[in-house]
Amino acid sequence: MTAPDWTAIRADFPTLQRQVHGKPLVYLDTANTSQKPRAVVEAMDAYYSQYTANVSRAVHTLGAEATEAYESARTKLAGLLKVRADELVLCSGTTFAINLVAYSYLLPKLQPDDVILVSRMEHHANIVPWQLMAERTGAKVEVIEILQDGTIDMDAFAAQLRPQVKLVAVAHVSNVLGTINPVREMAKLSRKHGIPMLVDGSQAVPHMPVDISSIGCDFYVFTGHKMLGPTGTGALWAKAAHLEAMPPFIGGGEMIKSVSFESTTFNRAPYKFEAGTPNIAGFIGLAAAVDYLQAISLDAIATRERELLEYATQQLQTIDGLRIFGDAADKASVISFAIDGTHAHDLATMLDIEGIAVRSGQHCAHPLLQFYGISATCRASLAFYNTEAEVDALVTGLRKVRTLLA
Ligand code: PLP
Repeated sequence: MTAPDWTAIRADFPTLQRQVHGKPLVYLDTANTSQKPRAVVEAMDAYYSQYTANVSRAVHTLGAEATEAYESARTKLAGLLKVRADELVLCSGTTFAINLVAYSYLLPKLQPDDVILVSRMEHHANIVPWQLMAERTGAKVEVIEILQDGTIDMDAFAAQLRPQVKLVAVAHVSNVLGTINPVREMAKLSRKHGIPMLVDGSQAVPHMPVDISSIGCDFYVFTGHKMLGPTGTGALWAKAAHLEAMPPFIGGGEMIKSVSFESTTFNRAPYKFEAGTPNIAGFIGLAAAVDYLQAISLDAIATRERELLEYATQQLQTIDGLRIFGDAADKASVISFAIDGTHAHDLATMLDIEGIAVRSGQHCAHPLLQFYGISATCRASLAFYNTEAEVDALVTGLRKVRTLLA
């Protein structure tokens, strides 16, 4: 298979063509949110300019066109992730999807002293909802610890699995370290103990082929804006049996079969979890994003991003006093680092003057930074639309900033 034309692909992203402070933009913050290709923007524009209508309600032509385009997001996501479309609940993103599982699936089951296992490297979106459930019920959130290299301590994890554990919640890929967690192995161990597992795929779905059905987990959540799609889109995948058993989380229109003041009958899953008018334009954009990713292929994307990761890691390591956090063998293209004698926010602010966008701070992962004993890192996250020249610009920028700050 011939390699994709990465230069032509990069030209599909309007924002990447702009300048910042008079310098060409170097966007290295894809783990925060990805840039959007023109095809996504155009799909949303077509909805608003040619067939604006609500979905699943009107019989008129525009309503049918909008419903078909909106529902195509569900079928395309199902194709991408190798799951059944009716097992995908469309929602505003990972945060909503995890809260849905917390309130609808876990809360009714939790008893005092039950345990929710959550890894040290989770984003707050995969910590705080579980803490809220624990507070309400007297259950406990227990940490799955990591090793210095930023990988899960699998021996410790195996020893933590016991009857009190009611859920394991773990990221597929860490948004800070880039570590790709052994979620299949973790799901297998959890299953042996009859413990359900939730995987946060926010940082995995855009960067590697993900076959949810082969992981063996119970819940898989992800967010659209990190996979070239619009903000306010995402999904929960859950086994049909779970979705059938779970009560609705949010009530309103669209999620019912019939309503009377005596009794209301809910729609079947996944619709019973999708109350109200959804983000129609957003999901139409997300359908275009899935088409775009698949046209390139997630295999090709993963290969290209691995090349960029290796190059960037080598180049960054040539900078005196620079420390990279996390060096798992299995790693996605996210590099968190600190430079002796400089603060991450100062680095990021001064890089911005050079047109370079990196994220600095705690990356919504306070417990992970506490583990490394640091208050902030700079994070460069690379996507297939980045180039080696942009990595060089980062390294040059960092050398310059370091000389100024050190
Ligand atoms: N989980 C991980 C691993 C993330 O990186 C993020 C976003 O940074 C989230 C969850 C939260 O996603 P959202 O804000 O789209 O709900």
